[in-house]
Amino acid sequence: MFKITWDKENNGVLLTMRSTDETLNVPPRPVFFEELDLLGLNKFWKYPKSKEPLLWACDRRYFYKGELVLEAKGGNIYDDPQLIFTDSGKKLNLEPINLDKLCKKNETTMFLLEHEALEFINTIYRRYRPNAVQQTVNKTVDFQVLAETQEKKTKEKYAVIKEDCDSFDIMPLEEAEKQGKQIMLNTKIEMFIASFSGGKDSQVVLDLVSRVIPSNDFLVIYSDTGYEIPPSLEIYEQTKQYYKEQHPDLQFYLSKNHQDVLYYWDKMGSPSRMHRWCCGVMKTAPLYRLLKEIHGTGKQPNVLVFEGVRAEESNRRALYDRIGRGVKHNNVVNARPIFEWSATEIYLYLFMRQLPINEGYRNGLWRVGCSICPYSSDWSEHIVEKKYPDSINPFVSDILNKTSLLGLSKESAKRDYVKLGNWKMRSGGKTSNTENSRLDIISTTPDFKAVLTAPKESLLTWLNILGKIKISQEKNITKGELQYKKGIYHFTIQTDDDKQIIVFENIGDEILLQGHIKRVLYKATYCVHCEACEVECPTGALSVVPLVSVDTKKCIHCYKCLDFKERGCVMANSINISEGNMKNNNKMKTSGIDKYSTFGMKENWVSDFFNNSDDYFEGNNSLGTKMIPACLNWFREAEILNISDKKISKLVLC
Ligand code: SF4
Ligand code: SF4
Ligand code: SF4
Repeated sequence: MFKITWDKENNGVLLTMRSTDETLNVPPRPVFFEELDLLGLNKFWKYPKSKEPLLWACDRRYFYKGELVLEAKGGNIYDDPQLIFTDSGKKLNLEPINLDKLCKKNETTMFLLEHEALEFINTIYRRYRPNAVQQTVNKTVDFQVLAETQEKKTKEKYAVIKEDCDSFDIMPLEEAEKQGKQIMLNTKIEMFIASFSGGKDSQVVLDLVSRVIPSNDFLVIYSDTGYEIPPSLEIYEQTKQYYKEQHPDLQFYLSKNHQDVLYYWDKMGSPSRMHRWCCGVMKTAPLYRLLKEIHGTGKQPNVLVFEGVRAEESNRRALYDRIGRGVKHNNVVNARPIFEWSATEIYLYLFMRQLPINEGYRNGLWRVGCSICPYSSDWSEHIVEKKYPDSINPFVSDILNKTSLLGLSKESAKRDYVKLGNWKMRSGGKTSNTENSRLDIISTTPDFKAVLTAPKESLLTWLNILGKIKISQEKNITKGELQYKKGIYHFTIQTDDDKQIIVFENIGDEILLQGHIKRVLYKATYCVHCEACEVECPTGALSVVPLVSVDTKKCIHCYKCLDFKERGCVMANSINISEGNMKNNNKMKTSGIDKYSTFGMKENWVSDFFNNSDDYFEGNNSLGTKMIPACLNWFREAEILNISDKKISKLVLC
């Protein structure tokens, strides 16, 4: 947030309000002796094994008293980096940074920064816990809906504001904030959460939240993805102990998927930049399942999560808002108190508040998330391989073992596949393991016909989410009637050994129904009980562990468990099976797993499109900017449009 310059005299940094010629482009991070040891610098420099840091680094350029002394270049999971010393860095006798002086010099700027963040947390907390307000205003009015209706009309952000003790109004959000109005939202938040990852950012957020919100009114949740490096788990325990001493009633929880992460690596294939399934499966789904369990009603509670996301971390994150509703999940509001903070400011806060620092940072990691990740850098893999080999090696072995499926036989080629990070670019499903299960869609018009071979789950169970079904059984044939929206549709399922042939009669024109049937078939064929779709269910009707079950009394046929993901299933999505079961069919390649953004297919899109299909995508529509690519992708997936252009497909025309 602030500009940064060197404090050369004290081997420190200074936060300043204004840019000068000396302003640093990259926020420096403190460097500890452990990182220098790892680089082998004990052969060249003298330094104590101090608790305090010894120098600073901007990326991989190291500075002592504001002077560049060393640059580390290259290096990867197998190879050491090259060290390039400057003249002044050839021989050094390092002294620890004086943290008292460092903190003192930045006291005023850090005061402003932390109090702005505390005020943000306080405002958000009061906005969603307006106890006094709730007692006087008619609770049955959904203020949020009112504001949203107005937003749709004017394309401007609106807020509901409280005018006096028993009246309210809506006005543009910007205006309300300018006038200092009391902004109310009627979204009922049932839990406040401080999300803890063991990293420095979430450490700061937890500390800030604990200074504002009463300790009996928020929970701390640590998500163990199964890839954690040992110091992250250690710091979770240490942090828990630290806060428990000060706030005995503060509750800590650890969320974890019921299966080991390597189980999913085997089934879904290693995660990649295109198939980043593990954030959803290992982090998000277990977290929301745990929240459901804590809430105890069987439904997903509405929660507000304070998280340590910062804009500086990546271009993608820089596009987030400081507060977002329904960004990651319909029932979740995400609040990011330190969104604009730099890494330097984060460390200064940790030093000032004397909070524990994850050992991974002392070893030189910039981020201490998962031990291996499709987004991890060569530098990170190098450090983890050297310091925490037991954490990373099972995953590297898995990647190496599967290289033969990709046609790599030479050891050097296999090593390069890991070293150059080619596994991170996986788009196809050759390294996934579906065992014998497969789905073949035989026809889509006039009858819809598909064959499921060795399906993993009960087809009839999954069909229940489409609508009410009535069935009768004659030998190996199940005859059924499905009520989908306002129509009644007839189907048969013929079971022969490990095959099931399903036929829906005469639904060639029912594009939406076909799209949903396909998703149900993907789920029934490939489900590995990953938990991801269960947490999309708003009513608690769906449960996927240990087997799939649908409580038909609770299911409201909202299709959220189908529409949350391409093909309605993380497993089917990750193995990238196209219809007809031809893996890696180029025609079916997509631009990424987020191609629908957060939009499910809407019925009015279809009717509006057929009313003016000639210029629907040329502006004659009611779609927002982000909806256009989502709508295009939905139509292509549903085969309303050709894959390569915006023309109506033959399937629809015939
Ligand atoms: S490995 Fe990467 S993609 Fe997977 S859970 Fe960790 S951070 Fe997310
Ligand atoms: S998400 Fe909707 S359709 Fe799916 S099980 Fe739950 S209520 Fe039924
Ligand atoms: S059907 Fe749901 S629980 Fe099963 S693998 Fe697919 S997303 Fe996961």
